[in-house]
Amino acid sequence: MSELNELYQQVILDHNKNPRNYGALKPCTHFSEGFNPLCGDHFDIYAVMDGDTIKDISFEGSGCAISKSSASIMTSLVKGKTKAEAETMIEQFQDLVTMPMDQQPDEDKLGKLAVFAGVREFPARIKCASLAWHTLKAAIEQQPKAISTE
Ligand code: ZN
Repeated sequence: MSELNELYQQVILDHNKNPRNYGALKPCTHFSEGFNPLCGDHFDIYAVMDGDTIKDISFEGSGCAISKSSASIMTSLVKGKTKAEAETMIEQFQDLVTMPMDQQPDEDKLGKLAVFAGVREFPARIKCASLAWHTLKAAIEQQPKAISTE
């Protein structure tokens, strides 16, 4: 197992056990609901935005270890960031999980996001890992409909 995958597993286990920013944030300015019917993951994302800055963000719901830890990591990464910075991270995340296995992610550029490279080994779990990021996008762009990965 590569170093990155070991790191990935440790991070996933830690965030699954001790999710950060967990619980409804009320009142909030932005909200979205995301489903991954394939696995049964379901999370709500709450955000408080001050102009273009994500001042506070949280999630609540239930799902597998990968979807839950991904939501926890996502909220810690985007808190305090601008909408544009969060959108860049959403794109970087998508590029990362769809990158061929033999390609190494740029860890300097991706920072903590690089731990998700390990999810490529489990293609069925990519939707679990992506759910929180899709839901974040819907929340900050104020899309009125619930998000489904299907
Ligand atoms: Zn899942």
